[in-house]
Amino acid sequence: MKVKYSYLEEQFKDHKEIFNRLDKLIQSGDYTLGKPVQEFEQKFAGLIGTKYAIGVNSGTDALFLSLKAIGVGQGDEVITVPNTFIATVGAIMATGARPVFVDVTDEFTINPELIEHTITKNTKAIMPVHYAGHPADMSDIMDIAKRYELPVIEDSCQAISAAIDGQCVGTFGLTGGFSLHPLKNLNVWGDGGIIVTNSEEILDRLLLLRNHGLKNRDEVDTFGYNSRLDSLQAVVGNYLINDMHTITETRIKWANKLDSALAGLKNFVTIPKRRPNKRYVYHLYIIIVKKRDELLSYLIKNEIEAKIHYPMPLHLQPAAAHLGYKKGDFPVTESQCSSMLTLPVHQHLGEKQIDYMIEKITKFYR
Ligand SMILES: *Cc1c(COP(=O)(O)O)cnc(C)c1O
Repeated sequence: MKVKYSYLEEQFKDHKEIFNRLDKLIQSGDYTLGKPVQEFEQKFAGLIGTKYAIGVNSGTDALFLSLKAIGVGQGDEVITVPNTFIATVGAIMATGARPVFVDVTDEFTINPELIEHTITKNTKAIMPVHYAGHPADMSDIMDIAKRYELPVIEDSCQAISAAIDGQCVGTFGLTGGFSLHPLKNLNVWGDGGIIVTNSEEILDRLLLLRNHGLKNRDEVDTFGYNSRLDSLQAVVGNYLINDMHTITETRIKWANKLDSALAGLKNFVTIPKRRPNKRYVYHLYIIIVKKRDELLSYLIKNEIEAKIHYPMPLHLQPAAAHLGYKKGDFPVTESQCSSMLTLPVHQHLGEKQIDYMIEKITKFYR
């Protein structure tokens, strides 16, 4: 039996309806912004529960433009985590600001207790990451942010529809950035991203920033960027957003099944803490395991495409050398990097494949 990590071929095996919609778009000539983008923005804002959503070129740009919209630049500092996808830090670097790392908890999200002592007079924002689809502790983070009057930009790229007490992540801070990359829970046929906010002021700034800063056809107040959500991608997004409920619920179902089965292997497998008031959407189903590298090879040999997200933390990446961090600075992140494993839990897997993974993992430790 094969348990594949990627499901794009299956997901788009029947793409006739999307082609029909693209055909209409092509004949309309509405190639930049226009109706499909507006429709997607409205649907997305509805899904997450914000007043506004602004479609942009990628998840990375969703974060970068959010930082630009609040004026982050050279000499500023942005607090984030070292256990994220490179793009979180890339977006901060692209503004000219300096990323300041804070270690995470055993839930893989920023440890609120460690934030305060990293705040300096140069701190301009806090950027928690809802890593793997695990909601960060937003109420503690927002308390600190309010006390220091710091805006919060939520990296929600891996966490569409994740929630705390029924409130979606991305809506606690000033903005939330989401990715529509092919491997994210809500995907398009290339790159795409979207920002949510309830602030009209931020909305206005983002609308300018993503479209050259153009106030109207001929007038520019502030120079911006070309970072529009592609209209073709918005057509794909409008089609797929209707499946979000099924996609999310299936991932949760497989994750819950794995959680209960793997609980029986507690000498070897640690399941991250799950809190009853949080909705985890399992963009990545991550566990902490003994003999990780051996287990990984064993699973690959048995045609189970397990992975590691990610083996090297950001503070130890060659690109971050000038920041002056060293091994040992973030012990929780570093320990997780050497013992974490991601199992596939996507919506195109069936019960049999989940059972097969459980069987093989159990066999490995027996
Ligand atoms: C995917 C991802 C991004 C970047 O999104 P792109 O659409 O690939 O630019 C940023 N942060 C995190 C945590 C991600 O997983």
